[in-house]
Amino acid sequence: MSAEIIDGFGIAKSVREDVAKQVTELKRKGVAPCLAVVLVGENPASVSYVRGKAKALNECGMIDKSIHLPESTTEEGLLQLVDSLNKDENVHGILVQLPLPKHINENKIIDAIAPKKDVDGFTPVNVGNMLIGRDCYLPCTPHGIIELLKRKNIQTNGKSVCVLGRSNIVGKPISILLSRKEYNATVTMCHTGTQNTAEICQNADIIIAAVGRPGTVTADMVKDGATVIDVGVNRIPDTTKKNGFRLVGDCDFEAIKEKAAFITPVPRGVGPMTIAMLMVNTLDAARKQI
Ligand code: NAP
Repeated sequence: MSAEIIDGFGIAKSVREDVAKQVTELKRKGVAPCLAVVLVGENPASVSYVRGKAKALNECGMIDKSIHLPESTTEEGLLQLVDSLNKDENVHGILVQLPLPKHINENKIIDAIAPKKDVDGFTPVNVGNMLIGRDCYLPCTPHGIIELLKRKNIQTNGKSVCVLGRSNIVGKPISILLSRKEYNATVTMCHTGTQNTAEICQNADIIIAAVGRPGTVTADMVKDGATVIDVGVNRIPDTTKKNGFRLVGDCDFEAIKEKAAFITPVPRGVGPMTIAMLMVNTLDAARKQI
């Protein structure tokens, strides 16, 4: 059996096109959705993510209010900026790109973002509302995974899901979301303290790997016909590439694709969906704030 490779890039494009149509309609009513993306410092991965977000905003016809601050920006300075963006009626969403420089307390900054503009879904108010199933902005990566599963018609109802990783931005929220009655999956969340990760994976209908280590999920851990969603983005040295590296996920893609029914590639799998769902959340934020 050879797996269907889920075209996250193509699905993300179609999500962005849907958003663009709705933005056109909203603009006719006089509202132009606007996202403020705040980047502090020069972390190369962050610079590249922010560039991707700006490109997607432009494609969707939304206003890109990118703010690039120097590494030396103080915590107080960043808090003041967030405060002014909270008060700016023309800004509907605020995203502060993480990680922040070490001298800035990330929690303080996240806590300062007005929940109604928290399109990343990281503030405690949004996380709490997600947990108890109330209206909220879903964090973009888990939101993107759910959208991929829906668009590929991959059933979650009654299925066993193994999530590897328990981060606040991927592992925990995707576990909570898939456990909701509407998705009805039975989820096991694994981490470095889990004793029998391989066995749990072998029994899973869906594996979601968000670990950040290449080769964490091997073919022998995957049941025939399972779905494998690889969230990991790892840079590994590659002298054949101009930039000296290539991106791989957390799963042994080549071997697993001979066993699984569906698998996401890295790149062009979950990554583009994360940005697409940010566009969806920004549109939603603009609508809610009219
Ligand atoms: P993270 O904060 O980097 O934490 C990694 C998690 O993996 C931790 O919970 C850790 O467990 C767990 N872990 C480590 N080794 C493990 C193993 N062998 N088995 C099971 N769990 C293991 O997580 P993250 O921020 O979610 O990032 C994970 C990966 O996803 C990274 O490569 C990141 O770049 C990528 N990512 C991609 C996107 C995207 O849009 N494609 C978005 C976000 C993140 P402990 O808690 O016990 O340490």
